[in-house]
Amino acid sequence: MYKGIAGSEGIGIGKVVIIEEKEINIETKKIEDTDAELNRLQEGIEKFVEATNAMADRMDETVGKKDADILRGHIQMLQDPMIEEQISALIVAEKVSAEVAVDQVLEQTAEMFAQIPDELLQQRATDFRDIKTRMLKLLLGIEDIDISQVPKDTVLVAKDLTPSMTAGINPDNIAGIITELGGRTSHSAILARAMEIPAVLSIENVCSLVSNGDEVIVDGTSGEIILKPDEATIEEYKVKIDELRKEKELLVKYAGKPSVTKDGVKVELVCNIGKPEDAKKAVECDGEGIGLFRTEFLFMDRDSIPTEEEQFEAYKSVAEKMNGKPVIIRTLDIGGDKEIPYLGLDKEENPFLGFRAIRFCLQRDDIYKVQLRALLRASAFGKIKIMVPLVTCIEELRSVKALVKDIMKDLDSENIKYNKNIEIGVMMETPAACMIADLLAKEAAFFSIGTNDLTGYTMAVDRGNAKVAYLYSTYQPAVLRAIKKIIECGKKEGIMVGMCGEAAADAKLVPLLLAFGLDEFSVSATSVLKTRKIISECDVNECRELADKVMQCSTQEEVLALLDK
Ligand code: PEP
Ligand code: MG
Repeated sequence: MYKGIAGSEGIGIGKVVIIEEKEINIETKKIEDTDAELNRLQEGIEKFVEATNAMADRMDETVGKKDADILRGHIQMLQDPMIEEQISALIVAEKVSAEVAVDQVLEQTAEMFAQIPDELLQQRATDFRDIKTRMLKLLLGIEDIDISQVPKDTVLVAKDLTPSMTAGINPDNIAGIITELGGRTSHSAILARAMEIPAVLSIENVCSLVSNGDEVIVDGTSGEIILKPDEATIEEYKVKIDELRKEKELLVKYAGKPSVTKDGVKVELVCNIGKPEDAKKAVECDGEGIGLFRTEFLFMDRDSIPTEEEQFEAYKSVAEKMNGKPVIIRTLDIGGDKEIPYLGLDKEENPFLGFRAIRFCLQRDDIYKVQLRALLRASAFGKIKIMVPLVTCIEELRSVKALVKDIMKDLDSENIKYNKNIEIGVMMETPAACMIADLLAKEAAFFSIGTNDLTGYTMAVDRGNAKVAYLYSTYQPAVLRAIKKIIECGKKEGIMVGMCGEAAADAKLVPLLLAFGLDEFSVSATSVLKTRKIISECDVNECRELADKVMQCSTQEEVLALLDK
């Protein structure tokens, strides 16, 4: 048995499939036989055409013909006589291998497109880089596993699951996830929870401990995995799976009920979603709205930026699905651990302190304006609110408001409907935002506390680094004080204060958050009923007494000793 971090509750039993991101290493030594190399190139191109057509045919079924056709276009791009000739000429003239020639020619071509100040043509750069990577993998014999195609009862084992990998998962086939890296608030964990897949994270060297096909039990509640379990252990865990199912069934009595404390304080209990389709689950699980739509997932697991029309449809569909209930849509939050390869961003030394979220959006307002316009257009179809991530200074909020105002003028002149009073709020997830919460509260329509980042930035700890995980805790007095201050500042200005970080669903913290006066709890769809049960068992006056004591604690240990009672 190995113990890691409990990333996503539940128990899964299945067979291991190891997912490896293999590195592309190109040898640059000169070749002798250029004819043989030209043949290798042709074989590579043939395999590319075959594989791409097969992939596109599959995509016709899963994501639709439009995206599949983009992939088919890659075949023409690679087989463009100019491109093929350049690659062949380089092999002959420089006596380099097919992979060196492919790498150079396609990268130069991509670079050329990237320089053109036209969004559509810049997109070509992304296409050429994608073609390059796939061609290099074919020439070097590197095989990638297609996660969407793994068999039923698969337990995925990986160093780390990137959000774009996770986005390709078919939850029906995945019994569990085990990773070497990542903590409870890493995005793979968040997505695993959203998909109700048991996950255990941060098991050192797990990729070397297991082999493909090994049987394994993943206990995402205790954070344990059991490799090659015997029959008796499997039976024991099957009983546990049954118990968990029964527990879940008992929560049904909280469905359709308001989220109200024992002494009658009503709060909003809404959901975090990553894809438009998740809104269905939010409704099924009785969410009272959407408190966080992480729109960056719309930009992942594809080869190009979603168009205004695609985004509009996505936002509109969520607004309509929620039928007049509030829908808080967070604008693009990329960077940190969320990469979007086709944007071609530079590697950074400190991605979590770098070109992330609103910082990226304000510099790339060509991309941001498209999103804001799509959001405004969709606001005519439901109660959409806009939320700005990673705010650290008031200018960022003002800049977003100015952009929105400009776009509103455009929409007016085009006679396009939108909500003229759309609310623009701030995601409170940096110590800077906390320190100026009083100022931000005067200009923001609402706050939503992002405890995942707020904890990391307040404690100066990387969310996914197992070595310093002991410091990454919302129970730390520093973090609790930050949360309390943000809620107080928001309340003083009379704005709604919600929380969309994972802490909102933490049974130990809910009483404290109620005492601080939190108005809205945004949790994963699967946590709605559980959280409603906890809220309904709380008495706010008692919670306040507890909070008074907790806020006098000097250490996390003392805090936990009180909360555990
Ligand atoms: C947060 O930081 O708490 C949050 C909800 O945002 P994300 O986890 O997407 O960074
Ligand atoms: Mg965040």
